[in-house]
Amino acid sequence: MFSSKIKQLISVLQQLPSIGSKSAQRLVFYLLSEQGRRIGLTIANSLEDVMANIGNCRRCRIYTEDRICRLCSNAKRDTRILCIVESPVDVYAIEQTNAYQGLYFVLLGHLSPLDNMSPKDIGLPELFRRLETEDINEVIIATNTTVEGEATSHYIVQHAPSHIKYTRIAYGIPIGGELEYLDHYTLRHALSARMAIIQNTREKKKDGF
Ligand SMILES: [Zn+2]
Repeated sequence: MFSSKIKQLISVLQQLPSIGSKSAQRLVFYLLSEQGRRIGLTIANSLEDVMANIGNCRRCRIYTEDRICRLCSNAKRDTRILCIVESPVDVYAIEQTNAYQGLYFVLLGHLSPLDNMSPKDIGLPELFRRLETEDINEVIIATNTTVEGEATSHYIVQHAPSHIKYTRIAYGIPIGGELEYLDHYTLRHALSARMAIIQNTREKKKDGF
């Protein structure tokens, strides 16, 4: 029914995550419509440019058009703290908080024997080399809190140089969250990762309780 070129584009788009056959068809027909053609050509040009010119930073492996990315070459960043994340998207998420001033290392995946992802595939030899040669005193492991993310975190801590302090991002109850809606796993972690609350005796008297 469709031209083979159209079928080809639909099947290519379907290879993208979260695009099913219906969505792919809808996108292709939109791109072929009068208002869609200009957007289609802009996307095509931009894709070609990005695919040809964007690679991975040699130090942190984030996507960049430079050899060393802007984060790694920013003299204002604290080079003694390194945050390990699974994907470049995680770097953008953390940067948006404005709460972190250190550097990053992007694994571009997680350890997964099922998907044939070995320590080498996620850049651990490069990471360990950095930890051995650079003046880093804290490593924050911010891999996802999935089974694979936890296994990756565990592997890193067990195999990385021992002179560095390793911390794991905290997880548990979201801000504004109510306990009754949490799953058991999250609540168990929230309990085991509880924090001390410092008592301010002066304020206690002032409140009159
Ligand atoms: Zn970088």
